[in-house]
Formats: sequence, C-alpha cells, structure tokens
Amino acid sequence: MNHNQDPIVALATPQGVSAIAVVRLSGQGVIGIVNQIFRGSDLTQQASHTIHFGVIQKGEAKIDEVLVSIFIAPHSFTKEDAVEISCHGAPFIVTQLIQLLVAQGVRIAEPGEFTKRAFLNGRFDLAQAEAVADLIAADSRLAHQTAFHQMRGGFSLALAGLRKSFRHFAAMLALELDFAEEDVAFLDRADLKKLAHAVIETLNRLIDSFQMGNAIKQGVSVVIVGKPNVGKSTLLNRLLEEERAIVSPIAGTTRDTIEGTLHLGGIRFRFVDTAGLRETTSDGIEAIGIERTKIQLSKAFVALYLVDLSNTSLRQAEEDLIALGLEGFPLLKVGNKMDLIPSADLEPFKGYLWIAAQTGKGIGPLKDELLRQIAQKPTDGVGTIVVNARHFDRLQKSKQALEAVIIGLEQKRSNELLVVDLNSALQPLGEITGEITTEEVLGDIFSKFCIGK
Ligand code: GDP
Repeated sequence: MNHNQDPIVALATPQGVSAIAVVRLSGQGVIGIVNQIFRGSDLTQQASHTIHFGVIQKGEAKIDEVLVSIFIAPHSFTKEDAVEISCHGAPFIVTQLIQLLVAQGVRIAEPGEFTKRAFLNGRFDLAQAEAVADLIAADSRLAHQTAFHQMRGGFSLALAGLRKSFRHFAAMLALELDFAEEDVAFLDRADLKKLAHAVIETLNRLIDSFQMGNAIKQGVSVVIVGKPNVGKSTLLNRLLEEERAIVSPIAGTTRDTIEGTLHLGGIRFRFVDTAGLRETTSDGIEAIGIERTKIQLSKAFVALYLVDLSNTSLRQAEEDLIALGLEGFPLLKVGNKMDLIPSADLEPFKGYLWIAAQTGKGIGPLKDELLRQIAQKPTDGVGTIVVNARHFDRLQKSKQALEAVIIGLEQKRSNELLVVDLNSALQPLGEITGEITTEEVLGDIFSKFCIGK
C-alpha cells in the first residue's frame, strides 16, 4: 500500500431521516480517532469484526448512543483500518458526528473513494469496482445478476483468458526474434493467424454481448410501430395496465412518443408508443412524430409491428411494413382487434401473433414471445455480458489492433512490428481491469459513484 491512507469519513446510508444511519470511516488511525469521541470500551484494544455499544460525546455533551463496528486492516472492504458507526438516523446527529470527526482530523470522502481505495489496495480489479456501482444501481433481477457476476470476477476471468492468449502469442514472436540471425522460424504463421482469429472471435462475442448488457442495464427497448388507429396506445395501456397513453379513435392523435416500463421475467422492458407512422404526411406535427419514431427505432432492441386485422389484408400489412422502412429490423409482428373478425379470417396471418388489445386477449402469449426473443439473443458463450460502455470501447480498440496484427501476418511484416501491434491490442484489456490506468481515468470512474461508497 503506497497511496495516501489519510482517514476519510462519509455517511454510507441515504441522506434524510431514517431509523438508523451508518457513518463510515477508513484509513490510518481511524479506530483511535473514533475512540477519542466514544465512551464505552477501549476500541483500540478490540478484535476485528466486533461491535461495541457506547455514547458519542462532544466534550461533556452526549450526541447519541451508537454501535461501533471495528474492522482491522487488511480485513475490511478497503483493506485499511475501518470503522462503521451506526447512530440514530437524524440528520442533526449525523452532521454533529461527522463534524466531530472532521475536527479530529478526518477528511470527508470523495465520491467512490472507499471503492477506489479497495481497488488501489488490490481487493479487486477495476472491472469489479465498476460492477459495485452497477450493483447498487441495478433495478431488475437480471441487471443485479449480471453486476453480481461481474463483481465476483466473471468478466475479469474472461479477460484473463484473452490476455493469456495474447502473451503466448507475443512470447512466440519474441522467441523467433531472439533467433533471428540463425534464420529459424519457430512458428508457422498460419498457426499464428488461427490463434489471432480465435481471439477475435472471443472479443467479438464480448463486444456483441454489450447490446444485451446495455439492454439489461437500461431496460430492453421495445418500440410499438404501426399505422394510425391500429391500437398502439391501447396495447401500451394494456401492457402497462394503466392509463399512460391517451387512447383515441381520431387518426394521428398519438403525436408524441409515450413510454412505460414493465418487468417481465426479471428483465426491465421499456415500451415506447410512437406516433402513427404513415408513408407520407402533410401534417407538420405528424412529420415530427415520424422523425421521433425513426430515432426510437434506431435505439430499439425490437420493434413491435402492429396491424389492424379488421381492415387490413396480409398483403397490405406486408406492403405497409416495407413502406414504413421496417424491413430488416428485428420485428415482432402482431395482429390486433382479433375480436372483430371471424377466426377463419385469422388464418392468413400465420407469422403474426393475434391479440385484442382492448380485451386483453393474447397479451400473455405476446409477453412470452418478447421474453423468448430476448433469450435468443447471443448473450455470452463466454459466460459474460459486457454492460459498461468503457469496457465496450476498450474491447473494440483491442480488436482493431488485433486486426492489424492479422494484416501484418498476411503482409509478412517483421516480428518487431507485429509485437508493437500486439501490445496495442493488449493494452486496452489492461485498461479494463485497471492494470494500466491513469489518475484521470480513475478519477472519472470513481467520481460517478455516490459519496460513502
Ligand atoms: P393508435 O392510433 O394506433 O394508438 O390506436 P388506438 O390505441 O388509439 O386505438 C384506435 C381505436 O381502436 C380505438 O378506438 C380503440 O378503442 C380501438 N381498439 C384498439 N384495440 C382494439 C381491439 O383489440 N379491439 C377493438 N375492437 N378495438 C380496438
């Protein structure tokens, strides 16, 4: 441990009135410092992981009755000496307590400083530290699972495998360099190329998983698209079981996009109802709505294409789909208002899910189908999903550099040059785990944490 270990303090629980608040300290001498304002047993003489009842005093004034937990380095989250004071959750008490500690020479912690110290002291790598932030922010079962897996080192393990392949690669090139004068080739360049391609495949899988990772973190975006009056707003309401969108029989009333979220099978879905799409329009506001729809589509995971079964032929529906520019986009085709037509007329619409948004018929199977589509997405294959934009960026950089290595191999470039490219491919991976970082990158990452974390 060679970085600054000055004692820091922060409220670890949310601001405001609560039953209990926890004030957290870490750094050199924190147990002794708390001991000076604590009336109870001598905290400096206690074993790690013990809890002590006593009173916090400011001179003769009693501030609060508290429980103090002791953690002796390196057996704490930060691997430094640490103390947690559980006091009553009154802002006045918390403020008094923190002021008292500051008067003893303790500094108020910066956002994420506890986690940053844990990282700097080798508790976990950077990808795991970032997962701590994701874990706190997780608001669905899958987001929680992914962050937890990453915090436990799942992603780091996948990266370690990649780096091992790179190092093996570099070692082979270097070996050949050492014997360059003797003009022996230790390596079959074709083998090297094979290895590079295998690594790129792994990188690709991780890069592709980001779409899923992002969806898990932000919610899976489903855009409801279709001509005016097909029942988009009604469907959105039905899905959300509340009146979010204004349902109206006048064509083109849903002029803006309306959103709502829904948890299905542990995944958060964000449904977006778009303005009624039409091929051409003379209504300016409608045109804006269509523009918005295009933007929504570009961000969406899947589009739910809705048609009105009561007034549309299959042929018309398929033509509209093309005219609306939906071709090639991941689609879920849904035929609405099945209650208005005899069941024999449903037959032609084979690739469609049949529903009646108004009565709720077919909504269950529709939800199941949405979940099934998500489950089909390539999630890992390496057991890991990339959720973090910074990681995504570094993986892409690594891949680009590795592609340069392959070109170099094809062009029979010298080993020295290949090693340079190989190192450029390795570097971004080190930046993910934090083996190679700058103070700037660290500052950027940890400043996004909340205070006390
Ligand atoms: P949007 O323009 O696509 O958003 O369509 P709306 O949700 O506003 O619905 C247009 C009209 O179709 C409204 O009068 C709805 O009540 C009606 N509607 C929607 N879904 C159904 C359905 O499943 N069955 C029937 N019979 N009418 C429906």
